[in-house]
Amino acid sequence: MTAGMSDERRRQVMAVFRMPLSQTILSRTSSMTNAFVSSLIPTVRPTAEDVEEALSVLGMTWESTSCSYCGKPTTEWDHLRPLVIDRRPTGYISEIANLVPACGKCNQSKGNKPWRTWMLSTSGHAPTARGVSDVAQRMDRLTAFEAWRQPTKIDLAAIIGADALKEYWALYDALIDEMRHAQLVADQIRARIDASVRQTT
Ligand SMILES: [Zn+2]
Repeated sequence: MTAGMSDERRRQVMAVFRMPLSQTILSRTSSMTNAFVSSLIPTVRPTAEDVEEALSVLGMTWESTSCSYCGKPTTEWDHLRPLVIDRRPTGYISEIANLVPACGKCNQSKGNKPWRTWMLSTSGHAPTARGVSDVAQRMDRLTAFEAWRQPTKIDLAAIIGADALKEYWALYDALIDEMRHAQLVADQIRARIDASVRQTT
């Protein structure tokens, strides 16, 4: 093993130990935001023909289906245009015109960022940062996919009324406030536990 490889391996193994630190109550905020949005957003189940057509626009077949962003095995389908921006729905829905095969790593890393900016980003797990060799070609395919079908974009306020939508987001705000409060209490308890562990070890 070369020095570079063992450095990389060490970084990967050590990265696991960062996980418990991020498992806070407030670190779940964006999951809650996504849940509040996806609870409202319609899902249109594609036919096999739709999926086959989408794959062919991306240069793939059933057999060669892989992550559109990096080429790794597909574990999920990602919303190319995000459903949520700035904690509010964009109006895009779950339908084949807005879904591309992805791997978990890319899906997580991309989050709600615009796909082009994210793919070219040199930080985190973005394809360019990970040294994916054919990023430009993948971006061309995704541009073709974007032009393939006009995606549905719904106006929630127009459908359910501005007041109903405001009430719904008030529930969200109340929940986030409760999470903030719970985090504060957890931090205080944690400080006492840490102090007690320091005393006994
Ligand atoms: Zn990927």
